Amino acid sequence: PYVIASPCLDVMDKSCTEECPVDCIYEGSRKLYINPKECIDCGACEPVCPVEAISQDRRVPDDESAFIADNRAFFETV
Ligand code: SF4
Repeated sequence: PYVIASPCLDVMDKSCTEECPVDCIYEGSRKLYINPKECIDCGACEPVCPVEAISQDRRVPDDESAFIADNRAFFETV
């Protein structure tokens, strides 16, 4: 799945939510989250993010890797 990382914090531009064909991007208190069980890996959200916060999980930079688990955890607790 695709993952939203730290550049989204306190930005939440939401251009991505308009592009997502399966509406799997949800709003948290400080950033947006992609539900890994619903994301179909289409890639439509990545180029529209103005802060380049989105990438496929296997391409998330090492210093942003905590966000992979964070995105997953967000949907396990709600
Ligand atoms: Fe939605 Fe596609 Fe982005 Fe996954 S990759 S969050 S399905 S727009």
